Amino acid sequence: MIHYLDQSATTQPSEAALRAVTDAPWGNPSSVHRMGTEAAAALREARQTVGRTLGMTRTAKDRLIFTSCGTESNNIALLGTAASKKRDPSAPGAVILSEGEHPSLENPARLLEDRGYTVLRVPTAGGELDLGRLEQMLAETAVPVIFAGFMLVNNETGAVYDVKSAFSLVKRYCPDAVTHCDAVQGYLKLPKNRFSPYALGADTMTLSAHKIHAVRGAGALFVSENVLRRRNLTAVMPGGGQEWGLRSGTENLPSIASFAAAAAEGFASLDGRISRVSALRSRLEAGIESLNSETDPAWKQRGQLRVNRPRGMYLDNIASVSLPGIRSETALNFLSGRGICVSAGSACSAAAKKKSAALLAFGLPEDEADSVIRVSFDHTNTEEDIDALLDGLRDALASLQRKR
Ligand code: PLP
Repeated sequence: MIHYLDQSATTQPSEAALRAVTDAPWGNPSSVHRMGTEAAAALREARQTVGRTLGMTRTAKDRLIFTSCGTESNNIALLGTAASKKRDPSAPGAVILSEGEHPSLENPARLLEDRGYTVLRVPTAGGELDLGRLEQMLAETAVPVIFAGFMLVNNETGAVYDVKSAFSLVKRYCPDAVTHCDAVQGYLKLPKNRFSPYALGADTMTLSAHKIHAVRGAGALFVSENVLRRRNLTAVMPGGGQEWGLRSGTENLPSIASFAAAAAEGFASLDGRISRVSALRSRLEAGIESLNSETDPAWKQRGQLRVNRPRGMYLDNIASVSLPGIRSETALNFLSGRGICVSAGSACSAAAKKKSAALLAFGLPEDEADSVIRVSFDHTNTEEDIDALLDGLRDALASLQRKR
């Protein structure tokens, strides 16, 4: 039996999301014949469905661009913003991110850094975006800020960043900067008004389909009317001009339709999902507390499990747990052998076998950042999944620490 507790890495497509793949018209939405117009209508409908979940109205002049994934959306937002500016080789511009952004935003920023851009990173110690430091950066930077991008929810700690306040600071000091929110982990997990680009003041926003129980192969980038009017975004992949010229390539309609089906389901049942996850989180926290309070003196000596709970607001779906004296990889393999799937940091950093930048930015010492597992769950998980994990952790502590 599998206990899948890695929902932040990817999710199992729902039945409706799978059905949407096979039901989607296979024609090319750009073709002018009947098969094409049928596909174009399905694409339009999917766009409206996903757009509605963000608060977009039918008459909105903002656009929802379909991409292939969250990574592509983040790249288009940042590199497309940089490409839209007339470049002054002596001072090409400044980009502001948070420390520990997902590699899909951090790495394109490094690319720009190599080309002479200034990249400023706002500290996130304790899981909080340091707004005081951000304001200082904005006030002191000598180079014009072209882009400020912050994730809504950190994918490793679950910290919910106050991007709304951050964006309003950015707009106050640098009204021309594009404010970008990577909402991949917060979309359809937080209450509606907390991931809407309108509520947050985001000019652009990234979403990813496979994190919300759709099949892989689709993502989206919300682009505000403000950005479009000012021509603050230029295509980074020129081609046939699909998606208003901002993301060329024939649209992946089966994945997009699946995305829309999963988004509609998630939006309709959001409140119920949030309360279900909150109950699972309470069970996990209570279980960890009770493991820590076991009376066995040997147990006490071995050290305690610790939930790396952000100081401010956090998403119940993601729990970062420090395991005293056990390497993440060892614990992961131990748990995996029992059918329990968690991850060490994020799936991406685990593959690169690097210390997690997000956990270091959170404030964990280097050696401790190696002894953390990320448990991520959602409404599809059960109490049994949580209990299996707690049993697994008890046995892991008993047997792995003994071997040290
Ligand atoms: N941004 C965040 C915060 C993520 O957690 C992820 C994936 O884990 C991505 C972006 C990238 O999304 P995708 O896997 O769709 O490229």
